[in-house]
Amino acid sequence: MSPTVDTTEPLRTCVGCRTKRPQSALVRYALTADGTPVVSRTAAGRGAWLCADGATCLQQAIKRRGFERAWKRPVAATGFESLRVADEAMMANMSK
Ligand SMILES: [Zn+2]
Repeated sequence: MSPTVDTTEPLRTCVGCRTKRPQSALVRYALTADGTPVVSRTAAGRGAWLCADGATCLQQAIKRRGFERAWKRPVAATGFESLRVADEAMMANMSK
């Protein structure tokens, strides 16, 4: 058995640019019970997906209320601030 591209990988839609991609190309954001968004593949609750390499997807998602749509609940402005921090931390990790 050689490792091949898994074509059964589920597709997710980026809440920013609305592009459908395999979930490994996207990052999952989840909303915790206290309303704080976190970057996590395993966090409980609804997931909102963003392109892992999409520099503008987060901004687009905030502008288009993609997160509210994905999570079906309003997100406080302070929630988006922590999202930006998480996003920047992720980008920093990836460039290492
Ligand atoms: Zn995107």
